[in-house]
Amino acid sequence: MVTGANKGIGFYTAQQLARRGYVVWVGCRDKDRGEAAAKELAVDGDVRFVSLDVTDAASVAAAAERVGAATDALDVLVNNAGVAIADGEGLPGSVPIDTIERTLAVNLYGALRVTQSFLPLLRQAPAARIVNVSSTMGSISASTDPDRPLGATAAFAYPISKTALNSLTAWLSVELEDTPIKVNSVCPGFNDTDMNGHTGTQHPSQGAEVVVRAATLPPEGPSGTFFDANGTVAW
Ligand code: NAP
Repeated sequence: MVTGANKGIGFYTAQQLARRGYVVWVGCRDKDRGEAAAKELAVDGDVRFVSLDVTDAASVAAAAERVGAATDALDVLVNNAGVAIADGEGLPGSVPIDTIERTLAVNLYGALRVTQSFLPLLRQAPAARIVNVSSTMGSISASTDPDRPLGATAAFAYPISKTALNSLTAWLSVELEDTPIKVNSVCPGFNDTDMNGHTGTQHPSQGAEVVVRAATLPPEGPSGTFFDANGTVAW
């Protein structure tokens, strides 16, 4: 199950998983966009659209029921759906609380809601993987580094949504440590997608590669970690 898979990194994650032989559910909030993506991805494998708005409890419950009616187990959950609200971002001294609430609604509560709803199916898989698509922007270490590796970013809502998502990764990995389920955060790098007005420097299919790596970790792979294409990212 890949959330927000009708475009961008989610679309290419779904494509790469389908090419590896997974039956892929693309969870999308817009029926037309979701069905169009599933149709386009049909050449890559068995790709199925399921209606899913991560901010809507009834929608998420219905999606879990629909998938559960078709399969006994879910091998992979990719919490990819995300927003960055350009209009109204800002530093903590002035950012509107509403911007923070709308960002967390998708990037944190959405991912948590989907995870809770699909956990029973994930537990039925022999070795499920949960991937939270995060960002280096959510790294407290990077944001407090005096060398400013992230540049002068006038944003707070989006970064803290990813910091919180990373915390979900850490807590959930501890909760699930006695199970074969692995939970990790990944940063897909800076990709050319709608989210950043196509300023990203790499194609989203490249960004999807590290997501797929986390989704297909071998039994000896890590859990409760944060990594990108180059290795560990500091929390
Ligand atoms: P994108 O092209 O804007 O795609 C975002 C996807 O999330 C879309 O499919 C969108 O659906 C979906 N979405 C948003 N709200 C949703 C909701 N309430 N329910 C279901 N789906 C929803 O952005 P992207 O760059 O591929 O981003 C994918 C993930 O990567 C995000 O979590 C983002 O934070 C993360 N990321 C991106 C970059 C980058 O450089 N692009 C860097 C680091 C991390 P609609 O089409 O219906 O809006």
